[in-house]
Amino acid sequence: MRWENLTAGSGGPAGLFGADAVVTRTIDTPEFRGITFHEVRARSIVNRVPGASRMPFEWTVNPYRGCSHACVYCFARKTHSYLDLDTGIGFDSQIVVKTNAPELLRRELGSPRWTGAHIAMGTNVDCYQRAEGRYRLMPGIIEALRDRANPFSILTKGTLILRDLPLLREAAEATEVGISVSVGFTDTGLWRTVEPGTPSPAARLGAVRALADAGIECGVLMAPVIPFLGDSPEQLRATVRAVAEAGATSVTPLVLHLRPGAREWFTAWLGAHHPHLVPRYERMYAGGPYAPTWYQRRITRQVHELAAEFGIGPARRGEARKVVTPERPDGSAAAGATQLSLL
Ligand code: SF4
Repeated sequence: MRWENLTAGSGGPAGLFGADAVVTRTIDTPEFRGITFHEVRARSIVNRVPGASRMPFEWTVNPYRGCSHACVYCFARKTHSYLDLDTGIGFDSQIVVKTNAPELLRRELGSPRWTGAHIAMGTNVDCYQRAEGRYRLMPGIIEALRDRANPFSILTKGTLILRDLPLLREAAEATEVGISVSVGFTDTGLWRTVEPGTPSPAARLGAVRALADAGIECGVLMAPVIPFLGDSPEQLRATVRAVAEAGATSVTPLVLHLRPGAREWFTAWLGAHHPHLVPRYERMYAGGPYAPTWYQRRITRQVHELAAEFGIGPARRGEARKVVTPERPDGSAAAGATQLSLL
């Protein structure tokens, strides 16, 4: 293990955090080989989403930047360039950790100016990525939200969320809590190459099941549906069936989009693993970061039909998602039955 102390102005990501001291720790253990953690003390932790009017949430908390889940298509890659860090391997391996996130959040939630609005987590990078196993920031964050009865939601691919199940249940007793797990496909061959740092789709669906068994409703964001690789009728059927069997309350499809930062990285991956598809992708994404509307509509319709067949409903934009707690022995619902708007 090696320690380096950096201060603002010494280069690297420190400059982004102004005058705050930054400590970079390079871990050389089998568990985190190849990953550098940049520990920082952030100045603020509750962030307003730019262009929030177009999003179903306005406020976010992101304790990490960069994500070792390393999804090739990750739209957050571009944000690493704001830190003067590489958006490819650097995004996967240079992880900024806001070590003071829990205490900062508790302070900001206690501010007279804070109105108690819904806070979304996991909307930029995954708050239950591997680093969370080491830094354990989420328990303090959930406790702060629970203690203020502040509604929140979490979107993740990390099965590590199950570690915090008791806390999530406590929070759901106090406020509105929404959980979504992202599973775009169940094809293990595709998973190994395109989401190499994530728990397997089966493990993620196991987390959905565990959440459901604990009385916490969990939706699945079926994202991304990857054209020509994960969109066959058989693949869509297998995925929606598995989502239903896991006990998810909703399934919401989202077709792959390729913004700058992600686009270059994904295209290089495509060229290496599926070179014959490169011309088809060039045509499909010729108009910009999004697949054509006809294609998106087709996928949405197929998934909705499958969801109906398997007995789960797609979440609608801004739809309230219910978090329930199991009935008490006397048959009454515990005080956690709450409503939430989420992704
Ligand atoms: S888990 Fe989410 S944030 Fe992390 S690399 Fe994958 S898509 Fe990006």
